[in-house]
Amino acid sequence: MIEQLSQFWRSQTSRLMLVYLAIIMVMSLSYSIVIYATSAHQLDRQLPRSGFIDEQGEFTPAERVGAYLRLQIAEGKQALIVRLYVLNLVMLVFGAAFSFVLARWTLDPIERNVEAQTRFVSDVSHELRTPLTAMQATNEVALRRKKLPLKDARAVIQSNLDDVQRLQRMTTTMLELVADDRPLATAPTNLHDIVAGSLTDIAPRALERDIAIDDQTKNECVQADSASATQALTILLDNAVKYSDPGSTVTLATERLRRGTWAISVSDTGPGIDKDEQKLIFTRFYRGDTARTHTGSHGYGLGLEIAQMIARRHGGSVELESTPGQGSTFSLVLPAAKRQK
Ligand code: ADP
Repeated sequence: MIEQLSQFWRSQTSRLMLVYLAIIMVMSLSYSIVIYATSAHQLDRQLPRSGFIDEQGEFTPAERVGAYLRLQIAEGKQALIVRLYVLNLVMLVFGAAFSFVLARWTLDPIERNVEAQTRFVSDVSHELRTPLTAMQATNEVALRRKKLPLKDARAVIQSNLDDVQRLQRMTTTMLELVADDRPLATAPTNLHDIVAGSLTDIAPRALERDIAIDDQTKNECVQADSASATQALTILLDNAVKYSDPGSTVTLATERLRRGTWAISVSDTGPGIDKDEQKLIFTRFYRGDTARTHTGSHGYGLGLEIAQMIARRHGGSVELESTPGQGSTFSLVLPAAKRQK
């Protein structure tokens, strides 16, 4: 208990709470002084300066009336001091409680932010270490060999290059995550243009994995930053190609999920995602079972977070419907264009 109290005493909450409480008490005491000074002045003005004649016509001198009133006024002032004293005590108790709530309310988002930043830095360091360790091991093994034939040396260099590319991809992705306050240049954009941009990136990978892409998107317009929306769709399309089995088809379609929006849905017939995992996959660095079982599926568990972030900045979202064993549909929901092109 004492340990907890001293911990609280040393915390940021208690410091901020004391600052708030000091402000409240300074205000309360200042008001009390003003109230006392004004009331005392009003009471003092009640003292008669000359005597007066009562109803019976008798004259009472000022000193006699004054002595009686002075006593009454002194008692009145005393009572006022007690009341103000009690009021300030009450203010102290309620003020302390209120300051605590206010301090938590101020510090909670800041602490959450700091925690997220710390987690991000530690996750990033961990992710960056993996390719670096792989590079180090490959080079050390090569160096230990007495003779290194040209073919093996080329293999080592190729492996180093792969790791460097991996690091480059990762740092680019992370920079995108931190640059989420870039202003969006939204304009009426045809869904076909967004899809065409993504297909340019993904078609070679789909071909490589023998996956067909069936584009059924309609000729509709959304209010979007074309480059960002294309990036978000590319992430969804890349995942669909990455996690589907060779020989299958990924379908792109247009849906109106809500009024005033258009969604580009990406449906695959891949492994699907468990209910429990469906929320987790949007969190930073989370890679699901599908990523682990699909050997060679590159990624860092950042894609869906970036896609979600881009959609939200447009006032939209990324939505998921998935049945394990049957496939998934990820929808990129964007606001419909204000004016058709
Ligand atoms: P990454 O693909 O790099 O692992 P993402 O953030 O894009 O990271 O996806 C997070 C996880 O969501 C993936 O690791 C994978 O388990 C799951 N996932 C994403 N898209 C699909 C999909 N179309 N089918 C099955 N699982 C998917």
